[in-house]
Amino acid sequence: MKIASSDIALVRDYYPNSAGILLTFKCNAMCEECCFECGPKNPFALTKENIKNVIDQTSEMESVNFIVWTGGEAFLNYNLLLFSLEYAHKMGLRSRIVSNGFWARNKDVAKAKLKPLIDRGLIELNVSTGDNHQEYIPVERALTAAISAVELGILAFVTVESTSNSTFKVDDVYKHELYTELEKTDYDRSLFRAASTVWVSFHKDKKYSYDYDTPPMPEIENGCDSLYQMINVDPKNQALSCCGLAVEHISELQLGKVTTEQNSLRNLYNQQKEDFMKQWLYVDGPITILQKAKQWDPTIESVKFVHFCQTCAYIFNNPKVQKVIKENYTEIIEDVQKRFVSKIKLSSYLKGIRD
Ligand code: SF4
Ligand code: SF4
Repeated sequence: MKIASSDIALVRDYYPNSAGILLTFKCNAMCEECCFECGPKNPFALTKENIKNVIDQTSEMESVNFIVWTGGEAFLNYNLLLFSLEYAHKMGLRSRIVSNGFWARNKDVAKAKLKPLIDRGLIELNVSTGDNHQEYIPVERALTAAISAVELGILAFVTVESTSNSTFKVDDVYKHELYTELEKTDYDRSLFRAASTVWVSFHKDKKYSYDYDTPPMPEIENGCDSLYQMINVDPKNQALSCCGLAVEHISELQLGKVTTEQNSLRNLYNQQKEDFMKQWLYVDGPITILQKAKQWDPTIESVKFVHFCQTCAYIFNNPKVQKVIKENYTEIIEDVQKRFVSKIKLSSYLKGIRD
C-alpha cells in the first residue's frame, strides 16, 4: 500500500471500536429470510473456550470498549450468555445483546433474566420483531423483553422488519397496549426506541415487494463504516470483516478461523488494511463501486436492490464486475488509498474526542 511514511503508524495502530460475537446460528425461530439461515437444527455455536479466546484477544485491542452479542438466538443458552458477559465484564467490556425476546413470558421472568446480565455489563437490549418473527414469537414477548429492560434502566431498541407487504409496522409498537402502559408510568421512556429495518431476501424466489425507486437502504454516505470500525466472529469461530446482512454470502469478507499468533484476531483485522476492495468499500460504499464498474464496462447488467449489502454481494459474486475491477483498479488506487487514510485519521481524531 502506498501510504505516506508519516501515516503508516497511524494506520498500523488503528483498531475497531467494538466487536460483534455471533454466539450461535441456532434459533428457536426459523424466519424465512434470516440472513444467516438460522433455525433449531443449525449446528454452529461457539464454545466457552472460543469465547474466552475471542474476548481475551478483543480486550488486547484497547480501542474496543463494547461487545454486541447476537446469533441466532443468544438467549437459547442462557448460562453461556451469562458466562460470556461475565468474562467480558471482567476484561472491562460492556455489552449489548440482540434477541427475538422469546424468553420474556412476563415481566417477572424477563427481569429475572436481564438483571444478572445487567450486573455483568449489559447496557442495551435490541429486540427484533415483525411479520416473519411473529410466526414464531408473539409480539408481546418482544415488547415485554424491551419494556422490562427499560424498567431496569437500560436502553431497549425494537427493530421491526419492513417490506412493502409488511402488515406489522413500527407504529404498531407505539400503539400496542404494553407500550401505552409504559407511557403511564414514571419509567424513563427515552430509553425505549423502535425503528424499522429493511427485510431483504438473498433468495431468487423472493416474495416481498419493495419500492425500488426510493430504496429504504440506499448508498451509505461516506462509505461502509461497518468495515474497520468493528470486528466480528461468527459461530464457526471465523472472523468477519463486517456485520452486514450479506457477510455469509461474500467469502472475501470472511477472514479465517480465530486461533492465536498468525491467525489472532489482531492479525486477521490488520490484514484487511492491505485489501484494496475493503478500502474502497470503506470510503465509497458498494453502490458507487458498482457504478464505477459499469462505467468501465457498460455491458454489466443494471440491477436494483433495496439494501446496499445486496449490492455488495453482487459486486463480489459477479465475475464480470470482479474482472473489470481487477483490470482497471490501478486507475483509482491512489485516490482510494488517500481517502482511506484520511477516513482512518478522522475516525482516530473523533475517537480521541469521545474518549
Ligand atoms: S429470530 Fe432472528 S436469528 Fe432467529 S431465525 Fe429469525 S431472523 Fe434469524
Ligand atoms: S456493504 Fe458490504 S462490507 Fe458493508 S456491511 Fe454490507 S456486506 Fe458488509
